[in-house]
Amino acid sequence: MKPQTVLVAAVLCLIFASCKKTDTATQTQTPTTSVPSSQQPVISYFPVNHVPGEIVHIKNDKNNLYLEKETNGYRLEGDIILTEAQVQHLKNEPLDNARAVTTELVKLWPSSIVPYTIASSASGFSSAIQQAMQEWEAYTPVKFVPKNSSHADYVEFTGSTVESSSHIGRTGGKQIINLYLGSDFPATTAKHEIGHAIGMFHEQSRVDRDNYININWSNIKPDKAFNFKNYAETGEAGIDLGTFDFYSIMLYGSKITDTDFVYNTNILTMTKKDGSEFFSNFYLSQGDIDAAKYLYAPTVYVSVEDDDNDMSSYPDEYIVGNASASLYSDRACTIPTTSPFPVKVNCAIQEDVYSTNGTVSSYTSYKTVTIPPNTHSTGILSSYNKVIKIYDGANIYRYEATYVSVRAGVGYKLYNQ
Ligand SMILES: [Zn+2]
Repeated sequence: MKPQTVLVAAVLCLIFASCKKTDTATQTQTPTTSVPSSQQPVISYFPVNHVPGEIVHIKNDKNNLYLEKETNGYRLEGDIILTEAQVQHLKNEPLDNARAVTTELVKLWPSSIVPYTIASSASGFSSAIQQAMQEWEAYTPVKFVPKNSSHADYVEFTGSTVESSSHIGRTGGKQIINLYLGSDFPATTAKHEIGHAIGMFHEQSRVDRDNYININWSNIKPDKAFNFKNYAETGEAGIDLGTFDFYSIMLYGSKITDTDFVYNTNILTMTKKDGSEFFSNFYLSQGDIDAAKYLYAPTVYVSVEDDDNDMSSYPDEYIVGNASASLYSDRACTIPTTSPFPVKVNCAIQEDVYSTNGTVSSYTSYKTVTIPPNTHSTGILSSYNKVIKIYDGANIYRYEATYVSVRAGVGYKLYNQ
C-alpha cells in the first residue's frame, strides 16, 4: 500500500469514528464523507398533522410558482415560509437562473449578526439550539447574540407540535424559527432551519439537481408535487453555489415521512442516480460553510473596464474594444480587490443601430461571466465593435454602437451602488 493510500484510509476511519448517532456532540471537523446508513437520521421537514392551506398559483412572465397559503405566509417545500412581500417580489422579478443561496429577494443580516430569543415552548431544546448556533459561528461569519432592546429584527426559536419551519433570510421584526418538538435530532433540525433564516434554500431544489438525484414522482401526491420542483421551475432567481452536495445540512433525506405529501413513507421519494438512499446530514458540510461565507463575505463592487482601439480611417469611425468585469473594495471602484469565492457577474450587452432617418433600434442580450477566486478581473467581450460609423462621403449611412454593462446579481454590488 502506498503511503498516500494509508493516509486517506486513516482519515476516513477518523471521520467515521467521529460521527455518532447522537447530535449532541459538537463537531470538530466538517465531514467530507458520509456516515454509515444505520447511523443516519431520517428527518422530515414536512409538517405532521398539518392543515393544508390553499394552493396559490402565481404566474409571472416566465414561470409558474405554486405556494401553500397559510396564516403567517406562504409555505414552500415543507418548511420554508415566504412573506407576502417576498411573494410580491417574486411576481415581479426577472428570472434568470436558480438558487441554492439567495438574491435580493432575501435580505441578509447586517454585519452577519443574528439577534435571537428562545420562547418558553422551545426551552427544552435550549442546548440543541445553542449547539446549532455554535456550529454556524464556528465555521462561518454568522454570529448570534441574545436580543436586546436595540434589535428591531430578530429570530425567536419556538417549539411546535406540528412542524419545523423558518422564514428565508431576514424578514424584518420578529421572525419565528419553529422546531418540531417531536424531533429526535433537534440540533440538526435547528442547524437546518437557521440555514434558511440566514438565506439558504434547499440543496435538492438546485437547478442542476436532476444530474445528481432522481425524484420518484409516483410516490408524491399530485397536489404536493410543486414542493419538489427545482428553483428554475418554481420561478425563483438566484444562484447555485458550488456543486451538488450530498452532505449539505440543507438537503432533505430520501424518505419523506409525512402522508400529506407522499403515498408511502417507506418508499424512497428521492434517490441518488444509482437508486440508493441519501440522508440528511448532522453537520454543516464544507458546501454549507462556503455558501454562508459567500453570503456574508465582505462586499465586493463590480465595474466594467473598457479599452479602445481606434481603427478609424477618416471620415469613417471604427472603434474596437475589450470589456472586462473587475472587483473593487470601495463603492467608487478605485481600490482593486479579489474575492475568495467565484463571483458570477450578470452582464448586459446593448447594441444600438441608428438608421439614416434618425431612429434607433436597440437590441439587448445577456451574458454571465465568472471572476475566478482570488482574481481581480475577467473578460466579458473581446474585440467587439464599440462604434461603427461609416460615411458615404457626406452622410452617415451606417452607425452602430455597443455598450457593455453589469447588472445586479448575487455576491456583489455595482459601481456606486
Ligand atoms: Zn428546509
